[in-house]
Amino acid sequence: MSFPFEAPVSQSLFDRASAVTPGGVNSPVRAFRAVGGTPRFMVSGTGPYLTDADGREYVDLVCSWGPMILGHSHPEVIAAVQEAVARGTSFGTPGAGEVELAEEIVARIEPVEQVRLVSSGTEATMSAIRLARGFTGRPKVIKFAGCYHGHVDALLAAAGSGVATFGLPDTPGVTGAQAGDTIVLPYNDLEAVRAAFAAHPGEIACVITEASPGNMGVVPPLPGFNQGLKDLCSADGALYVSDEVMTGFRVSKAGWYGIDGVRPDLMTFGKVMGGGFPAAAFGGRADVMAHLAPAGPVYQAGTLSGNPIATAAGVAQLRLLDDAAYEKVDAVSAEVRGLVTAALAKEGVAHRVQAAGNMFTVFFTDAEVTDYEGAKAQEAFRFTAFFHSMLSQGVYLPPSAFESWFVSTAHDTAAVERIAAALPAAARAAAGATA
Ligand code: PLP
Repeated sequence: MSFPFEAPVSQSLFDRASAVTPGGVNSPVRAFRAVGGTPRFMVSGTGPYLTDADGREYVDLVCSWGPMILGHSHPEVIAAVQEAVARGTSFGTPGAGEVELAEEIVARIEPVEQVRLVSSGTEATMSAIRLARGFTGRPKVIKFAGCYHGHVDALLAAAGSGVATFGLPDTPGVTGAQAGDTIVLPYNDLEAVRAAFAAHPGEIACVITEASPGNMGVVPPLPGFNQGLKDLCSADGALYVSDEVMTGFRVSKAGWYGIDGVRPDLMTFGKVMGGGFPAAAFGGRADVMAHLAPAGPVYQAGTLSGNPIATAAGVAQLRLLDDAAYEKVDAVSAEVRGLVTAALAKEGVAHRVQAAGNMFTVFFTDAEVTDYEGAKAQEAFRFTAFFHSMLSQGVYLPPSAFESWFVSTAHDTAAVERIAAALPAAARAAAGATA
């Protein structure tokens, strides 16, 4: 595939980056390996738009992979950050901002009685499974193929996201001992979960699942799946750990829990709660959280945990996320989904738009996608052509067919019109693409 709309300044930054950073990026999906071409180096973001180092503007449908639910540079979030920065950047002591952010989370998500702040979603899931193991005294963890929980050694078996993008079944550097207690099962298959509990009675510490997966593309749980997981866990004495790093505070005020109401024992959060800064969390039942140091024996810590700038940004963003904000994001999402479907249908391109609240993915297949195998069966080469056409017309999509698209409250009529204007040519490119 040729890339007629290359970006010389981005390319030169990418060349310099590649000399000093493996693959030229600090998180693999940013390198455009799945779609080819020059990764765009962004210099600024305002509302629904990003501007790259070549001065081109894009409607952003990545939103920093979810966090920027109010759009870029929201004035009230920026003001909160500026105020916090002026007071100092890190104290290594407790601070009021941490209390406010924790209270905000506990107030929104009823199953979260106590919460511990960390700096990334990876830390949150890593700590949650350590706590689940420490609480239950059991070794094994069930996870699902295609679900990504960050780059935790024990959870990198059959993960989605960047691992799906690169088609790596696993990663070197994770030892058999680190992954040996991880049981990987097909998503949406309760029978497989039942069989695993039967095969390992009293050995399973927890089932960890994305509340509604977005890392193999958006593949919502089938009706009753999450409740079934919870029931199987409860019956066996295992913990049900719902990873809401992506869905938390994004798909509703209370995340996916606000939609399906299945009560987890532990939950993990990140992305939106940090307002674009490194803040994440895990929390849940008070009796389980009481096992965490210094209250209990399970160790967990962080020099920058609860950082005052990150907590100020998170509190400001969460307080702006009222019912009206979610209604707006849901409406924009529905509108964009409708436009994409219409454009692809017009060109006769087999596709399926799957949504979980306002998160969505366009799969290039006719079939409903209910698991990782189904996601991998799509005609991803059509996405590549579609992606580059949209990029060349100033619309920035996730550079992989296995990711969710994200919109924000800032995606106004003008932004949606730009997307609509780009779609016919992109749909034609997808129709004409060859493997
Ligand atoms: N869990 C889920 C569901 C995620 O989507 C991600 C990141 O995309 C993570 C965990 C890891 O979060 P982080 O990238 O902040 O480490």
